[in-house]
Amino acid sequence: MRAVKFFGRERVAVREYPNPKPQEGQVVVRIRASALCGSELHAYRGEQELESNPGHEPAGVVVDASRSRRWRDGDRVGIHAVWGCGTCEWCQRGVFTFCDEKRFCPGAHAELMAVPDYACVPIPEDLSFAAGALLAGDGLGVPYHTSRRLPTRGGDTVAVVGCGPIGLGNVMVQAFLGARVIALDRVPDRLRLARDLGAAETVDVSAADPVECVRDLTRGRLADAVIEASGRPEGFALALKIVGKAGTVACNGENTQVSLHVGTDLIRRDITLFGSWFYHIREYPEMVDLVRRGLAVEKLISARYPLEEAQAAYAAFARGETAKVILEP
Ligand SMILES: [Zn+2]
Ligand SMILES: [Zn+2]
Repeated sequence: MRAVKFFGRERVAVREYPNPKPQEGQVVVRIRASALCGSELHAYRGEQELESNPGHEPAGVVVDASRSRRWRDGDRVGIHAVWGCGTCEWCQRGVFTFCDEKRFCPGAHAELMAVPDYACVPIPEDLSFAAGALLAGDGLGVPYHTSRRLPTRGGDTVAVVGCGPIGLGNVMVQAFLGARVIALDRVPDRLRLARDLGAAETVDVSAADPVECVRDLTRGRLADAVIEASGRPEGFALALKIVGKAGTVACNGENTQVSLHVGTDLIRRDITLFGSWFYHIREYPEMVDLVRRGLAVEKLISARYPLEEAQAAYAAFARGETAKVILEP
């Protein structure tokens, strides 16, 4: 089978690998769509050559269910990228992300993968594999899990700082759930995408004082909630400045070392600050419901490429002007 291999320094290519064989409790999935994730860009730009690739948001068709009792050949599945042990208390509750023995789904930009059968979720017949990859992966999962933890109600103002793929997913989900979304970024193409996905207002942080803009847009109240999706210290600092009294700041952006004054930033204004990572596999049916109720999840996709054009796909994605980019092996 063929799979993408990372060579380091922004070089990738398709290479031949042995076909995976299922172990007991595993299925082999023929990948039909595999989403690129911002979390891969560190490895893409890094020096190190990888065994294959860090893809982890795939969907496809079961082609070998001989070692599984859960699935049959031909079943359409998405793959939850965080594989719990399957038996501990958290795994039993459908929260693989909290499992102490968790592993990460390796090498999904490939034609075939052997995966634990309990980490697969069903993709309904009427959904595309690309939509399935967004639903089973973090493209929709992170924004959905974050939305479940926000105390906001319809009509509240939710600001999203950073409109990369995760920020744009948050814009889409929050707008769909009835929030008035203010999207903030410095890239015009991303702000245009944010408007397409339902942002009521956009703020170019390089053109104007973003705090004053949000103050004007909210008649002085500032945002009821802010989702920090830039993963940068200045984005985090901005999130704390544009959240209103008794508001909530949710952090999706990782790799940020920040400074925080507990008194002025949190205590004196009753601010709630929390982190939110990935999604819980038990939330998957709720996300399918959201699509059933009209969430146009495929609007998050900016481009699709065949596996052979992985280099072009990463180059486009790394420019930071797209939402999700999909490889179609
Ligand atoms: Zn991801
Ligand atoms: Zn476990």
